[in-house]
Amino acid sequence: MVNKTAVNIMDIEFINETKVDFLTEHVYPRLANNEKCFIVTANPEIVMKTRESKAYKNMVKQADYVVPDGVGIVMASKFQKQPIKERIPGYDLMLDLLATADKKSYSCYFLGAKEHVNKKVVEQIKQQYPNIIIAGYHHGYISTDDKSIVERIVSSNPDLIFVALGSPSQEEWITKHINNFTKGLFMGVGGSFDVIAGEVKRAPDAWINLNLEWLYRLLRQPFRWKRILKVIEFMARVYFKKE
Ligand code: UDP
Repeated sequence: MVNKTAVNIMDIEFINETKVDFLTEHVYPRLANNEKCFIVTANPEIVMKTRESKAYKNMVKQADYVVPDGVGIVMASKFQKQPIKERIPGYDLMLDLLATADKKSYSCYFLGAKEHVNKKVVEQIKQQYPNIIIAGYHHGYISTDDKSIVERIVSSNPDLIFVALGSPSQEEWITKHINNFTKGLFMGVGGSFDVIAGEVKRAPDAWINLNLEWLYRLLRQPFRWKRILKVIEFMARVYFKKE
């Protein structure tokens, strides 16, 4: 972690910058200099996972930047009287990175999601961002120890590697293999490939603006209700300072 203004929530250091400042002051210069960079976009569920697993916490702590994804993180920062300036959804960050990759003709690798989703993502990217160089792509139903995939990705020499395996697998994959690379921005993007491929609908802007994206997701995917319990536990722990 390289950010002095970070806000510590349950022993995880979150950046406290607007998305634009984060990108222009940190991410884009690193990309331009071929400096390696590992970004975790963390929501309350991820923070709770770091509390429950020391191994996972060590992975998240290896990130150069932990970005506040999820209204719960921003609320928690307010409870702590260290308000975070802005929620930065991982999906939005990914779209901005894709737009920059298109502008600068960077090469991108897409690892994760089901095979047909992964292929659809690449088709969408080719259409929407024609100047991006597709270094390669692979579905995410793999072992995080699969060396042949790692070798393939390393030899494709990508500037950006989007890893959509869900948490904790995506952070596990990145921390296991990042040392094999000489450059690259590595980011776990959770279910973003499903959204880009049109398999899952993102909440309409009105819901997002009302900070109700989580409720929209819950209504569309009710099997995720257990995840909400974790968010409630997270909020209670921060509020009552029982970390
Ligand atoms: N996924 C994958 N490999 C796996 C398990 C999941 O590629 O072994 C993909 C899944 O298809 C989905 C993504 O990981 O595209 C994220 O899943 P989920 O929405 O459950 O994760 P979250 O957004 O909560 O991190």
